[in-house]
Amino acid sequence: MFDKTLAELAKGLHQGEYSSVELTQAFLQRIQQQDSRYNSFISVCEDQALNQAKVADQAIATGTAGAFTGLPIAHKDILCTQGVRTSCASKMLDSFISPYNATVVERFNHAGAVTLGKTNMDEFAMGSSNETSYYGPARNPWNTDYVPGGSSGGSAAAVAGRLTPAATGTDTGGSIRQPAALCGITGLKPTYGRVSRYGMIAFASSLDQAGPMTRSAEDAAMMMNVMAGLDPRDSTSVDRAVPDYCAELNNPLQGLKIGLPKEFFTDQLNPELAQQTQNALKEFEKLGATLHEISLPNTSLSVPAYYIIAPAEASSNLSRFDGVRYGYRCDSPVDLEDLYKRSRGEGFGTEVQRRIMIGTYALSAGYYDAYYNKALQVRRLIQNDFVSALNEVDVIMGPTTPHPAFKLGEKTSDPVAMYMEDIFTISLNLAGLPGMSIPCGTANGMPIGLQIIGDYFAEQKLLNVAHQFQLATDWHQQSPEGTGEE
Ligand code: GLN
Repeated sequence: MFDKTLAELAKGLHQGEYSSVELTQAFLQRIQQQDSRYNSFISVCEDQALNQAKVADQAIATGTAGAFTGLPIAHKDILCTQGVRTSCASKMLDSFISPYNATVVERFNHAGAVTLGKTNMDEFAMGSSNETSYYGPARNPWNTDYVPGGSSGGSAAAVAGRLTPAATGTDTGGSIRQPAALCGITGLKPTYGRVSRYGMIAFASSLDQAGPMTRSAEDAAMMMNVMAGLDPRDSTSVDRAVPDYCAELNNPLQGLKIGLPKEFFTDQLNPELAQQTQNALKEFEKLGATLHEISLPNTSLSVPAYYIIAPAEASSNLSRFDGVRYGYRCDSPVDLEDLYKRSRGEGFGTEVQRRIMIGTYALSAGYYDAYYNKALQVRRLIQNDFVSALNEVDVIMGPTTPHPAFKLGEKTSDPVAMYMEDIFTISLNLAGLPGMSIPCGTANGMPIGLQIIGDYFAEQKLLNVAHQFQLATDWHQQSPEGTGEE
């Protein structure tokens, strides 16, 4: 059962092959036995999960179950879960028990899902390797010497390691798509505003967006059906009808115009990864799509613009962690200033402190125009590039990352090298566009992802394109050694 998708598990539940309690017990046991290898969970919610599963079984028995009833999932530990520790992988929130649920969590609970636990991540979602977590790095199930990507590295590792059939992630600059690519799973970052950010601990509010991390595009569609929609508690959530994301998965791709940005196909790519990406594109041609070279001329400016805007917003968002209201407080402060300084100095890790300093500097009087305003102007140019490209083509494709997973420790001493790993993902967040990563091959023996980018609110199209590829190929069905059925 560990190799099954959400769609397959739902069928099994409704046909009485197993109960939700049995399913939940099996996954909980597997997490207990195997997660020491991956460190993909920060908290496991056994009692709550079994209670949710019991309620789900009753709903199935009485015929009141929905499509998601009884299905186990995990949540990234950035999403507030009532009564359960929500740490954001930081010492700052190590003992924080959230008094309320994030809207995303609430929606899954309401749909009858079972929460297995909370997954590991980079501290406050700042990172591309899961190495900034206060709880130690999560590891890539394909080879535990390698990073799973970040910041949603725990979610990706847990899905790839078959410890949960699916998980939520969040993506501010690539944190769903990059770990999905590095762990050989499917990830979707929705259009900004499609999914509520309420109760999702804020990193960079104008970029943050939650989405599904799954084994297949079909499963991602099932999760989007639960997650998407207006939330009056998030003023940036969009009042727009939510389609049935499963409804158009089977549309043929005949005549689909795929744009290939020349800036994404550089000689900086890992050669095997470049080759496999080409093979995937050939597969789309076989499905009836046509390929067109396009240009996104400001691509190289996306990382620098992001590393002004995201830290600027983070420095403001993280000012609430001051040792007073909640979270870590230093021992015996001598006065208020000492309380602030030491609580923040001791509670935040190095990368978080680096971002706060960059952001505070960029927002300070005298530098605001030179850095922050300039970055906003660049952001608009990047958005314009996409808007004009998407007038010509239906979707844009390219590699999700320039390289496959790297070794733990390989890039920790060089933050800029780490930041450059997000070169193809960050620009979408700046533009607010939706993007997916789906497995499309291996390079150096590790999985790689194909990124599919669409117009605003074109998630249905992305899911359709990804699903058709997954019907024609089996990259998404491959599992790391040792994670199959025992
Ligand atoms: N890796 C990027 C960063 O460190 C993106 C993180 C994210 O999407 N949350 O900021």
